[in-house]
Amino acid sequence: MRPYLIDNLVDIFYKFRCNYCGKRSNKLDYDGINQPVIHKLKIIGAGRRKCKCIHCGVNDRSRLELFYLRTQTRLLDTNTKYRVLMIAPEYHLYEVLNGRSNLRVDTGDINPKRYEFADTVYSDLTSLQYEDQTFDWVICNHVLEHIPNDAKAMSEVYRVLKEGGRAMLQVPISLELASTYQNDDITTPEERLVHYGQEDHTRVYGQDYSDKLITTGFVLRMFDPSESISKNVRRRLKINVEEKLYIVEREN
Ligand SMILES: [Zn+2]
Repeated sequence: MRPYLIDNLVDIFYKFRCNYCGKRSNKLDYDGINQPVIHKLKIIGAGRRKCKCIHCGVNDRSRLELFYLRTQTRLLDTNTKYRVLMIAPEYHLYEVLNGRSNLRVDTGDINPKRYEFADTVYSDLTSLQYEDQTFDWVICNHVLEHIPNDAKAMSEVYRVLKEGGRAMLQVPISLELASTYQNDDITTPEERLVHYGQEDHTRVYGQDYSDKLITTGFVLRMFDPSESISKNVRRRLKINVEEKLYIVEREN
């Protein structure tokens, strides 16, 4: 029997298989924190949930991101050179991308010490140190909700992307809200926790998040797992079907 057939047969006994470490299990660990507002507004991509691989700790969002990059882009299957910027780099995704000889991965954060695994340098997303049109890809997930001037941050991502370059810009989002909820009177960590679900968030994005990206100049290339990933694969990877990927492109 050929190895891949044995491999597939073993899958019958397990509900989950991680696309990072390749290991299987029948259970997942918890990730995230619980706050009433997260449930009240049905904030996608937040809240305590069973979503972490028990072997490597990767969560549902990271699995979706890697699935997308593997199946919808050429980053991971060619020798073509690409330049990638990761802001607040996600450890597991960084390891995959940085392991590719065709990719040059820069990593940055406003607090780089939190990301020492990647030689991360200081980067203010509202004032990036890079020349115009430097990168083929920018990956910047769960960052914009921390930044008061998010419009400036989005325009900086646009500026440093090459023509035809793309960015992945995930945020915690409530599709219950037509408009993004932001109140300038809310200033303390305690108030932010109650209103936004996390002490250092400055807003809860609503349906108009797409409009903000389009206003910046991007073309929106949403990736919807409920339409683009088969049920079997979604179940196997334990992907959250509610969590759509906000992929944007700089056309010119
Ligand atoms: Zn894993």
